[in-house]
Amino acid sequence: AMEKIRAAGLLRTQGLIAGQWVDAYDGKTIEVQNPATGDVLANVACMGSRETSDAIASANSTFYSWSKLTANERSKALRKWYDLIIAHKEELALLMTLEQGKPMKEALGEPVGVVGAITPWNFPLAMITRKVGPALACGCTVVVKPSEFTPLTALAAADLALQAGIPAGALNVVMGNAPEIGDALLQSTQVRKITFTGSTAVGKKLMAGSANTVKKVSLELGGNAPCIVLDDADIDVAVKGSLAAKFRNSGQTCVCANRILVQEGIYEKFASAFIKAVQSLHVGNGLEESTSQGPLINEAAVQKVEKFINDATSKGANIMLGGKRHRLGMTFYEPTVVGNVSNDMLLFREEVFGPVAPLIPFKTEEEAIHLANDTNAGLAAYIFTKSIARSWRVSESLEYGLVGVNEGIISTEVAPFGGVKQSGLGREGSKYGVDEYLECCCSSDMSV
Ligand code: ADP
Repeated sequence: AMEKIRAAGLLRTQGLIAGQWVDAYDGKTIEVQNPATGDVLANVACMGSRETSDAIASANSTFYSWSKLTANERSKALRKWYDLIIAHKEELALLMTLEQGKPMKEALGEPVGVVGAITPWNFPLAMITRKVGPALACGCTVVVKPSEFTPLTALAAADLALQAGIPAGALNVVMGNAPEIGDALLQSTQVRKITFTGSTAVGKKLMAGSANTVKKVSLELGGNAPCIVLDDADIDVAVKGSLAAKFRNSGQTCVCANRILVQEGIYEKFASAFIKAVQSLHVGNGLEESTSQGPLINEAAVQKVEKFINDATSKGANIMLGGKRHRLGMTFYEPTVVGNVSNDMLLFREEVFGPVAPLIPFKTEEEAIHLANDTNAGLAAYIFTKSIARSWRVSESLEYGLVGVNEGIISTEVAPFGGVKQSGLGREGSKYGVDEYLECCCSSDMSV
């Protein structure tokens, strides 16, 4: 598989600064591993503050020329980049599966929407395109720091940007020492905006660190998504939707259903149909066609899942399915269903970021709304009901940035994506995602 990527010229291991592929000054590198096999895929440059300063300087000098082009001129290069990403979607999907573990069909299915600066490993390509796309379209230039776990996809995408004619310096990529690169970006007066997707803890640091130079910030942070199954729900629709919302990317997305709240009247019926559906998920290497559940990103992720499971069972929850590491070893974990979860358990309070579905029984609609909102997070929520009145009533009471109604997959480039409360600031995608890269938020409103 790596041969295919090398043959396409998309195996890049150096950073991209001012249109040049460069090593770290001290020659240091870090390993990128395949979580499904433990194989070392590549050694990539391990950079820090000096390389980040070079990247900022290059982005800053290119800003003057790139921002002077008309939107029409910039759109030509972006369109070309999009075309090249589509033309190379097989290689990019392969890279994502190899360095991140997700099944090939999920890797291929990611829409190419919007773009960014500091990005996580769970969507190695989409998190970059959804930030860099609108930033470049607006005339900004960008320094991207991809996750140290998944730099290869980012570097391949940057290579395609160069090929598409996006000028040297408009898009730079540095990776390696995250806190050092982060600090260099924060301290620079030339960096006017931080856009980040990742953990709430790091997001808070970046927001605090932006105060000194008064940067704009966009943050896409952790969620704790409730998935509410009301007793009038269509069982098949509710099972299919909550399965997708929970197990996408092996439970490793910030919009993954973290708590499945099920009304008493439908609890038993839903639980048995849901367990049956979870049993049909196929765990394996993402390169195999039949796989729908890949490995978790690393050992720390599995240990977190184990800690949450131990906490729940010690407080009275019952394992209905799974509940342990998968026999494939490495970082594979069995798709798991846990019954009788309550609001004193870690599974309720925090994001598990793994293939564990906690079922939480409730009596009334009011109780469900209260439980759903009983968290500092507020990114995605899901409800399942056949009643239109109920769907509006409940949706409007949920303190969440996105609400899926009878639907488990809700990210789309045409709807603004983002959280309330401590899940973040700002929106990505849609016309609102463009405003994030402009000084005033009036331009795109003129078009309505
Ligand atoms: P996740 O749990 O998704 O890995 P993180 O917030 O740890 O969440 O990582 C998201 C991104 O933030 C990664 O690119 C990571 O390298 C980066 N990151 C982590 N710590 C810092 C920091 N102190 N400053 C800047 N970036 C950081």
